[in-house]
Amino acid sequence: DTALVWFRRDLRLDDNAALQAALAAHDRIVALYVHAPEEEAPWMPGAASRWWLHHALQTLAGRLADRGAALHLAQGPSLAALRNAARAVGAAAIYAQRLYEPAAAERDRRVAGALQRDGIPVHFVSGALLAEPPAVVTGAGTPYRVFTPYWRTARALLRPRAPWTAPPRIPSTTLDGALPLAAFGLLPAIRWDAGFTTAWQPGEAGAQDALADFLGAPLREYADARDRPDQVGTSRLSPHLHFGELSPNQVAHAVLQAAGRLGTGARQGAEAYLRELGWRDFSQYLLHHNPSMADTPLDPRFERFAWDPRDDHAQHRWQQGRTGIPIIDAGMRELWSTGWMHNRVRMLVASFFTKNLRQHWLDGARWFWDTLVDADLANNAQGWQWTAGCGVDAAPYFRIFNPVTQGLKFDPHGHYVRRWVPELAGIAVPLVHQPWQDPDLLRRTGYPAPLVDLADTRAAALAAWKSLGG
Ligand code: FAD
Repeated sequence: DTALVWFRRDLRLDDNAALQAALAAHDRIVALYVHAPEEEAPWMPGAASRWWLHHALQTLAGRLADRGAALHLAQGPSLAALRNAARAVGAAAIYAQRLYEPAAAERDRRVAGALQRDGIPVHFVSGALLAEPPAVVTGAGTPYRVFTPYWRTARALLRPRAPWTAPPRIPSTTLDGALPLAAFGLLPAIRWDAGFTTAWQPGEAGAQDALADFLGAPLREYADARDRPDQVGTSRLSPHLHFGELSPNQVAHAVLQAAGRLGTGARQGAEAYLRELGWRDFSQYLLHHNPSMADTPLDPRFERFAWDPRDDHAQHRWQQGRTGIPIIDAGMRELWSTGWMHNRVRMLVASFFTKNLRQHWLDGARWFWDTLVDADLANNAQGWQWTAGCGVDAAPYFRIFNPVTQGLKFDPHGHYVRRWVPELAGIAVPLVHQPWQDPDLLRRTGYPAPLVDLADTRAAALAAWKSLGG
């Protein structure tokens, strides 16, 4: 008999638990992708995510074709598309990897209920996380709200499995009436994506190459180098993980194996790296337990916080990387041209936006959502709430990053700033991180004066925090 494999954010063949389960229990499969972005509203995929998705689907289709199978594309709604496909091939069951975002999870419950009534069981299998949320609870059986104890428990449970390898031939049935990928209209009409094309190779092969590149010296150096935006110190796996081109199990397994080979130094790197994968799990865990977290502060006191009125001019300057604070501008320009930004710099630009500009964190989160290739509802909300100080286990609000001292510390030679802010190309440290110290330099280079005074805005933010009773 035949089963449908409903691909969503598991755009890989290896270690794909839905595909594995379907092939184990059925003779043939039909691989199906349904395009239904409105089912994820109000957080429908942004422009950078759509670019990535187009290329990831294209490569997945190629990999299936190499194994004698097709990827069938259908337009949503999901229920109608699955029902049509299931009826056309007489499918005995449907398999999919479980999702945790509230809108997707709710859709999945509804779709599975309706298909069940049609007599078609839908099996959701684990694969997006290292640990399923219900598996990680306190001694009292309640969810954790703080990362460190969460991770102590989750790390102790972690036993990465040797990844499953997809067979060289995938027995499949063909389905008539499939759409061409172009029908989804995922690519931008105005071609702003040249920088993306040079920076990334979306899809499973690109993901496996990126992982392999990371597993030598970068893994050994990771514990220290991960904070340095001027170095390639991190794995850049985030978009691949978001779209499921690699499973976290594959990554954790490979990292531990490599650490075993590389010896002591690498073991420290591996633990630091697994901890970051732990943050990824923890974000999904928080979103699962707090379904409104993408739109409302986890710390309810911040419902009353005195954000400044929306300032379109300031937000625009921030988006364009024209704030006059070099490390902030470097980050925002890196984001615009590659769809990615280093984690340390994400924290700095988010702190500047929410504290120095005192703009609402959701406005910043929405810009990231549209421009990041790794835009991820749980990680993005968690990252913004953590930096804005309104999350659970967040950086306290009064911890306001100083972008000058942070720049001098984490971009000590100014390489990162000079790379992304060419106006400052000839300028050395420390001036490259605070060019306003030399008004003549600003005149010469055309680089803008600071949009706001860092010290004054810091003091104003602290006063607003005090008025909240902080
Ligand atoms: P590595 O250092 O190589 O880490 C490995 C993997 O661990 C990453 O690929 C990612 O999946 C996970 N990870 C690392 N750091 C974090 C973290 N702090 N929180 C959760 N998971 C983490 N990450 C996203 O994937 N999507 C987002 O939309 C997103 N938005 C963010 C917004 C803000 C304001 C902040 C401060 C952080 C955000 N992050 C987001 C987290 C983090 O910045 C990125 O995951 C990381 O920079 C990706 O680069 P990498 O793959 O080289 O990371």
